[in-house]
Amino acid sequence: MLTGKRSPAGAGRPAPAHGRDDSVLLRDADLVLTMDPFYGEGLLGTVERCDLLIREGAIAAVGGRLVAGPDTEVIDVRGKVLLPGFVDAHTHLWQSAIRGRGPALGLYEWFDACVWTVVPRIPPADMYRFVRLSAADALQSGTTTVVDWVPALEYAVSEAYLEAVSDSGVRFVHAAYQEPADAGLAAKVLTGLVAPHPLGTPQVATVAHPDDPDHLRVHAGLARELDVHLNLHLLEHRTDRSADLVARLQEAGGLGPKTLLNHVIHVTAAELDLLAHRGAAVAHCPLSNMRLGTGVMPLREIHRRGIRVGLGQDGGTNDSADMFASMKAAVGLQRAVSLDPAGYPGPEEALYMATMGGARAVGQDDRIGSLTPGKRADVVVLDPAALNLAPLGARPAQIVFGGRPENVTDVFVDGVARKRAGRPTGTDPARLVAEADAAARTLWGGEAGR
Ligand SMILES: [Zn+2]
Repeated sequence: MLTGKRSPAGAGRPAPAHGRDDSVLLRDADLVLTMDPFYGEGLLGTVERCDLLIREGAIAAVGGRLVAGPDTEVIDVRGKVLLPGFVDAHTHLWQSAIRGRGPALGLYEWFDACVWTVVPRIPPADMYRFVRLSAADALQSGTTTVVDWVPALEYAVSEAYLEAVSDSGVRFVHAAYQEPADAGLAAKVLTGLVAPHPLGTPQVATVAHPDDPDHLRVHAGLARELDVHLNLHLLEHRTDRSADLVARLQEAGGLGPKTLLNHVIHVTAAELDLLAHRGAAVAHCPLSNMRLGTGVMPLREIHRRGIRVGLGQDGGTNDSADMFASMKAAVGLQRAVSLDPAGYPGPEEALYMATMGGARAVGQDDRIGSLTPGKRADVVVLDPAALNLAPLGARPAQIVFGGRPENVTDVFVDGVARKRAGRPTGTDPARLVAEADAAARTLWGGEAGR
């Protein structure tokens, strides 16, 4: 087990404004997508004309005509839609450093040009700027949890990386990678910096090299020792079939309910049966797969087997944090290859995948992913009275097919407002942009990209 002691929930949260407690009442929402069938109708747990009360960072109540205390902040959300914050089940926050680069490269050429040669050249101060920019973009887009696969970093760079994540206020899973010989450094970061953070969850990151079984064995062992998830990219590229990677993962003791597998495109039916049998979860990253031309995840086969699926952005191979675009792509890709517009996932299932699906994939559905009283208050407010969403229609389909980050008016993470009335709180976006620009100039020497 991790030795780092988790702080009590809510520790590290900013003090409420003078004269108020930290409770917030979202009053009279037009529609609440709780993602909890116990509280509402259907898969999305839909409730109409409803209030939501946040207290001490948790969802205290969902229902009609809730009573506000004298110090409760009341926000009128008439006409708006509430839903849980999105869970980005797979990303790389540092990759704002490489947005738009390698636009015509395939996966492994892209790795060479944009990843392995780039990461070691980013000093701590600039790593802070890139990560801060990505985290702010995620929050303003309605993503409240990021599952971040982090490449091998020096300890000082890891400190800056995690300082940026912490300063942003986003909930985060930090999957730390190090070469097998340096696995102790990953353990130091996870136990010393991630586990004690009230919004942080540690994971061990690994890679499945066709020509090197050591990575899986060492990292699976570390994940078991720390009792955390193992997080890896698997069968993303067609050439990854040159070795029997799923069998190797199984042999290394790395295939179980605490395994998160990213992409899983070039997979056989027998391997999917094994993933289902072992209880592993997967992250689907449709925009990244489209960008790199790697293929289409057999999502319907995965769903049919009951495998948990979250939706991921995959950082710089997506170039944005727009979960609306990812939901739409998740629906569209399956339709494009199956020629069947009625199969999984439909818009409602895409919304579920982007919220509860991600929470389940990382084993946090007891705390996040739905607007269930008792869970942490990660809440998004959407305003459908916008040029791209009006007029009133089938709301889940409108959100998935037409929603955009700018329709997100308010975002709460652990009950703390990170976006209010359409503007990020506690940060200056123009400054984040200017600082990331300066860091990119240092990194790329003014080269615009190729
Ligand atoms: Zn990735």
